[in-house]
Amino acid sequence: MRVYIKDLRTTCSVPGCSVAVENCQLDHIIPWGEGGPTTPWNIHPLCVFHHIQKTEGRLQCYPLPDGTVLFLVDGIPVFSIPDGPLSKSNKTWGTKFGKYMERRIAA
Ligand SMILES: [Zn+2]
Repeated sequence: MRVYIKDLRTTCSVPGCSVAVENCQLDHIIPWGEGGPTTPWNIHPLCVFHHIQKTEGRLQCYPLPDGTVLFLVDGIPVFSIPDGPLSKSNKTWGTKFGKYMERRIAA
């Protein structure tokens, strides 16, 4: 599950943070101590700085069913959409490349 979660994203899941996922810690979005399950939709990578901010309650985030994480930044909702090799957003690339190759072969 650790490998799967780290392949869903390329960086810390906080929007705008560029710390590589390899240097992040895995965090339960809904804390384990509050009943948050250890399952892919409830776990995301956070860099040490943002992990400490979340643990101290200065960073609020919520899991969404499709793997997106909703962050509240000064009360404003900001969505963090997975962008890694196993994310849904990358499946579009494969589809487009497949269509491109079909057209090339047909031509
Ligand atoms: Zn970060």
